[in-house]
Amino acid sequence: MKLPILVIIATAAFLAEALLAAPLRPNILFIMSDDHAWQAVSAYGESRHLIQTPNLDRLAREGMRFDRCLVNNALCGPSRASIITGTYSHINGFYNNSNCRFDASQITLPKLLQQAGYQTAVIGKWHLESDPTGFDHWEILPGQGIYYNPTLIRNGQRIKHPGYVTDIITDLSLDWMKQRDPAKPFMLLCWQKAPHRSWEPALRDLDFDHDRTYALPESLFDDYSGRGLAEHDQNMTIAETMRLNEDCKLTVPRDLTPEQQRVWEAYYTPRNAAFLKKNLTGRALTEWKYNRFMHDYLGCIKGVDDNVGRLLKYLDDTGLATNTMVIYSSDQGFFLGEHGWFDKRWIFQESARTPLLIRWPGQIRAGSVNKALVSNLDFAETFLDLTGVPVPDRMQGHSLVPLLQGTTPADWRNAFYYHYYEYPADHHVRPHYGIITDHYTLAHFYAPDVDYWELFDREKDPGEMRNIYGDPAYARIQTNLVQEVFRQRMELKEPAQDDPRAFGGNRQSPTPLKTGADNTAKP
Ligand code: CA
Repeated sequence: MKLPILVIIATAAFLAEALLAAPLRPNILFIMSDDHAWQAVSAYGESRHLIQTPNLDRLAREGMRFDRCLVNNALCGPSRASIITGTYSHINGFYNNSNCRFDASQITLPKLLQQAGYQTAVIGKWHLESDPTGFDHWEILPGQGIYYNPTLIRNGQRIKHPGYVTDIITDLSLDWMKQRDPAKPFMLLCWQKAPHRSWEPALRDLDFDHDRTYALPESLFDDYSGRGLAEHDQNMTIAETMRLNEDCKLTVPRDLTPEQQRVWEAYYTPRNAAFLKKNLTGRALTEWKYNRFMHDYLGCIKGVDDNVGRLLKYLDDTGLATNTMVIYSSDQGFFLGEHGWFDKRWIFQESARTPLLIRWPGQIRAGSVNKALVSNLDFAETFLDLTGVPVPDRMQGHSLVPLLQGTTPADWRNAFYYHYYEYPADHHVRPHYGIITDHYTLAHFYAPDVDYWELFDREKDPGEMRNIYGDPAYARIQTNLVQEVFRQRMELKEPAQDDPRAFGGNRQSPTPLKTGADNTAKP
């Protein structure tokens, strides 16, 4: 039967429209590292030029680089809980790494994708205390795991693997992709342990930087003037907190085989002897520690980048690349000597901002850059959007799909709410909440023995060194931002008083919020 040409055109148009409206259902390969600072991804072009990351840069070149991806609570477990639930810590109940256990009965991204016909797997660091649920396959490090010859728990069974953790997590991820059912789409969470403390590189990479001397960050010797007790009373400086032994490798890591230990000692022992002979003190000692930290930390990043290259090659070789969205991110950022610090936790940019690179052939314009405020809360809704699964009401992010396709919605968020709890714990960073906008960071340090606000103009002061809270020149901006933080606390259903478990550590009892910190008070 011959159809009139107009009918053919109309039918083709209808089919094309139906195709566009249908869920795209790509495979999802979500590679996440642990504590990978955006300053240590060369695609972000940080001024110290700390390292070249050619494989991560390839994702940026072939996909989209997000310049303002933020996390809601810059700590390993809480960020992961937020990623898989699409909710803030006060909704999912995982506030800190001290006393929280993830409630696996709640709605999660992997459960929803599994129900929608995806094959789901998580391989690598999990760190949520309870076993993973919603995964066809899981293979996780116990707790933090170790770098050399680690044990992983495969669907409940502990198996020790010879070798280096970043290679092993990648090998296991490749193995899983090879044996999956090719008829179904998949979501694989390949979640690396590296470059988490205590920063132990692959033995083959120990000499990767040829004893380079690293440029110092401008604020390495920050005296915290103009800022409050929280900054003065933290315990996370390279100078005081970073330990010479395991952090700076004056002692040999546990768990090496004798052969591995020989390789380790061939590199570190002569360098450690030269260091000890110099008897460094004061700033010179801090600068040496910073350089050793950079060597070890960036050596771990080299291993991550090389292994991202292996995963991308597999996608190329198998033809999977065309229908697989590849996401690279970290559970939060990291201080690389800024403010004299290592670690994370703070609302400040080195910590709350995390790298995000997404490649999605045919949908994302290659080499695009997005400067919208996006977050770790957005991943779950993005993946649900791709698969056509309705987003549960409790989720608190937004789908990134329109941004990936080149259109940031006009009503996209322009202020992101942040809330950190764990105290005193390892680094003695006081609980605080606040908001981050394009230009400003506003924070309220509210417990247990403090009650003060800080405001930073990141346009003029990108290093967040000069607290301008109370400066009359910023009065109107300050009022608007404070109103916005309380508006968001209401909208996000923040309780007026924190959950008694929220601080973890030695603080099991609730601390009443002080004036100005409840949802209704006006500052
Ligand atoms: Ca982390």
